[in-house]
Amino acid sequence: MRSTKAVIDLAALRHNLRTIKSIASGSRVMAVVKANAYGHGLVQIAKALTKDADMFAVATVQEALSLRKADIKTPILLLEGIFNAKDLELVVEHDLEVVLHHWPQIEALQNFKTDKQIKVWVKLDSGMHRLGFALQDLALIESTLSNISCLANPIRLMSHFASADDPEDDFSATQLEAFDQATKHITTEKSMANSAGILTQKDAHYDWVRPGLLLYGCSPLIGSEASEYDLKPVMSLESQVLAIKPIKKGESTGYGRHWFADRDTNLGLVAIGYGDGYPRHAKNGTPVWVNGRTVPLVGRVSMDMLAVDLGPDCQDVVGDRVVLWGKELPAERVAPHADTIPYTLFCGVTKRVRFYYK
Ligand code: PLP
Repeated sequence: MRSTKAVIDLAALRHNLRTIKSIASGSRVMAVVKANAYGHGLVQIAKALTKDADMFAVATVQEALSLRKADIKTPILLLEGIFNAKDLELVVEHDLEVVLHHWPQIEALQNFKTDKQIKVWVKLDSGMHRLGFALQDLALIESTLSNISCLANPIRLMSHFASADDPEDDFSATQLEAFDQATKHITTEKSMANSAGILTQKDAHYDWVRPGLLLYGCSPLIGSEASEYDLKPVMSLESQVLAIKPIKKGESTGYGRHWFADRDTNLGLVAIGYGDGYPRHAKNGTPVWVNGRTVPLVGRVSMDMLAVDLGPDCQDVVGDRVVLWGKELPAERVAPHADTIPYTLFCGVTKRVRFYYK
């Protein structure tokens, strides 16, 4: 059987949650498990965290229903909120919490009839200008919501950072100041910090932190790695050497002839490609871990395989273990070579790859 696999280390995941709790001590943790838990497997990740996470955050109603179907009882917040009355029925039936970020959702709530209490979070736009109400609308929102009888009290407040991943950018401080000013008269629970905010904006921890990437053992901060914060990679994307091919100086490898050997050398053909989610646009020189050492990717990534330069004196053999990212090679080190971020590497792993949980 093809050896290409993603090994998911649930002990590392739980370790990361403990680390996050020690960084943001005093805050409760809303574990962000949307997008199939960043490609790690929604139900498996949530089950591993149910004992210690205070809440799960997902994007869609479907994701929340998958968790409830797996008998997960932890509170769940819908980050995208709801679109219509049908969604609200599911919210009530499955006891979900909802982010409200624009007026049509409030209108849907005004027209909805239920004898249950719906828990909502109001999302405020402190500067990201994506989802969220304008800060100056807060008083109007508060008074409008106070007239909707099916809403549970208290209503909680949240906002989201635009560029907390860049420690050089002081926009996070601007956003935090704006959110704080607009909401300081309200004593309800608040939430602002994503992974980057948890690491860099202590004052943004408030009552709830919302880590995604940190849980998966990866640093969101440009130029840093998770081990600096006592976090361990959860996903290890692995394969093996499928064939070794000697190649002469001046010869090329792969589609489009994007790399030429500058000396006689040996190529290792690795059984993983963009059909498995390895980024096709990874450049020559992208690090790949082969049997204890890091070697460069060479030539274009194909659908089912990629090539690495094992060097003229390679001792490697067919079947040697290869790690594309994981403990031996942090995703933070790989992503820049593909002009991307670790988030897309994790989310991009395709269904063809077999997942193992340990
Ligand atoms: N909060 C919100 C509203 C989000 O959309 C996300 C992810 O996109 C997160 C928290 C978690 O972000 P991160 O993975 O950077 O911690």
